[in-house]
Amino acid sequence: MLAQMPRPHGFVPTMGALHAGHSSLVAAARAECKTVSASIFVNPLQFAPGEDLEKYPRDFEGDIAKLEELGLDLLFSPDTAEMYPPGFSTSVDVGEMGNTYEGAVRPTHFRGVATVVAKLLTIMQPDVLFLGQKDAQQTAVLRRLVRDLGFPVEVRIVPTVRDSEGLALSSRNAYLTPQEREAAPTLYAALTAMRLLLHQGMTKDAAVAQAKSILSPLAQLDYLDLVSAKTFEPLSALQVPAFLIGAARFGKTRLLDNLWITK
Ligand code: AMP
Repeated sequence: MLAQMPRPHGFVPTMGALHAGHSSLVAAARAECKTVSASIFVNPLQFAPGEDLEKYPRDFEGDIAKLEELGLDLLFSPDTAEMYPPGFSTSVDVGEMGNTYEGAVRPTHFRGVATVVAKLLTIMQPDVLFLGQKDAQQTAVLRRLVRDLGFPVEVRIVPTVRDSEGLALSSRNAYLTPQEREAAPTLYAALTAMRLLLHQGMTKDAAVAQAKSILSPLAQLDYLDLVSAKTFEPLSALQVPAFLIGAARFGKTRLLDNLWITK
């Protein structure tokens, strides 16, 4: 069936519980491609024991309704046994880029992401892969996967969709208590302050220190840093393209955000 679908074919991998961020990826694919497909698969390989795999939000009926409204042509929603039959043992390791920042906090995460996306690309055979900027390190890891293994696919990065207070939309926002929800936009505020300070010529260390003071006392910061958009290695001074990246815990919920710096 896939072979007969008009090309270009754009593919949007997701873990479901779809929100406006996911919709913008499907809309970007719809605008560029003749065939648009998506996957919904909560990938156990990218969750470590004790993480939120079991309680990860799921809303299959709601997701289908949203995807139909967006004009999706094809949905792939395998169960775990279909993706990982007994004896499945191959994994894709992207190297050092998968070990820092998110990879330092979640050591098996990017191996799980790279493995599932490699398998999804093989199954779906898209011409264009649509990814959200929201998960900046994931975009760098998957660009590297596509380049290193020679997948015949172009990668598009779609800007982060935010709510009116600047909080990046995320399926995990549903876990926040009302108090944490109120505090969460301070992560974005810290990143935008840091961008301004860097553009004004402040050193990275001073900008990080000042940006930290903007974070809510409810936020437990994991990292706030400036990295190369291509290699995800830390930069000591502003060089483009770069990501300003941040991750913080609000109670039990860990949120990520970033800004893409191009000038
Ligand atoms: P997930 O379902 O969390 O695995 O996300 C599926 C895709 O949607 C990934 O490429 C994410 O980066 C992207 N995504 C998630 N949240 C947003 C957002 N707020 N804006 C844009 N893309 C997003």
